[in-house]
Amino acid sequence: MITVNKDNQAAIDYVSNFINGQWQPEANRYINIGYNDIDVSAYRTYCLEEQNNICCYCCRQIDNSRNTELEHIIPRAQNIDNTELQRYFDYSNILAQNIVLQRSFRDSATQQATPPFPHHIAYHNIVASCNGRIIDTSEYLCCNRSRGNDFVPPFNLMPNSIAYLNDGTLYYVNDEIDNRLINPLNLNKDLLKNIRRIWFLFAKSDVTEDEIMNVTNETEIREIIALNLDVNPSKLSKDGKIIDSFKTLSNWQTLIKYKYFLNYFRTNNN
Ligand SMILES: [Zn+2]
Repeated sequence: MITVNKDNQAAIDYVSNFINGQWQPEANRYINIGYNDIDVSAYRTYCLEEQNNICCYCCRQIDNSRNTELEHIIPRAQNIDNTELQRYFDYSNILAQNIVLQRSFRDSATQQATPPFPHHIAYHNIVASCNGRIIDTSEYLCCNRSRGNDFVPPFNLMPNSIAYLNDGTLYYVNDEIDNRLINPLNLNKDLLKNIRRIWFLFAKSDVTEDEIMNVTNETEIREIIALNLDVNPSKLSKDGKIIDSFKTLSNWQTLIKYKYFLNYFRTNNN
């Protein structure tokens, strides 16, 4: 999982300027400072840039399109109160220093300094996520849509808190025994684990990212697999079955969206 620093001054100024512009001095109140009042397309651009076009949760490639969604680390749900906010603050100083409850800020009768920012529109509270459609025709399987408003630690603001086993399993480093906190993201689906397993196997070879990304047809898929993956040729082996399932061009194109894991496994597990 990627870590983001949330230190883009242009993004911080963007939301500060918006909030200051919504203060009504005669009425001593803010008007229209909700998520639907600000142009969020700017957030999408800021987030994609700082995330290198990678989904905050599953690490697949994402682009500046409607398939990319803006995820609130602390959800906008009605039941979020200061007690719930504190749960997130306990995991992240970035949140503790920059976020305040939306309604507390909105209802203040004096103009507020920023930070902290109201959590619905705080740049520090927003990351870019895929829409959870791992394969084009299927339902929303993971990430933002899978999580909904469930509590999940702010992993993207907690460096090295998430790691992966060589079989592709994702786990929360600080709580290896009890992994319930990662479950809402649904990132240990067999399909995602298998994708990461293949990248682990490629990471052990000398293949380059360019060689993998340049594959254009099923003949080349078979060639690059035969050249680089030292797998028991029996189709009954676990790896053999996994690899076989990615030999079609459409599944291969799904696989390569997760190229983040080539470098991950080369850096971490070999
Ligand atoms: Zn994702």
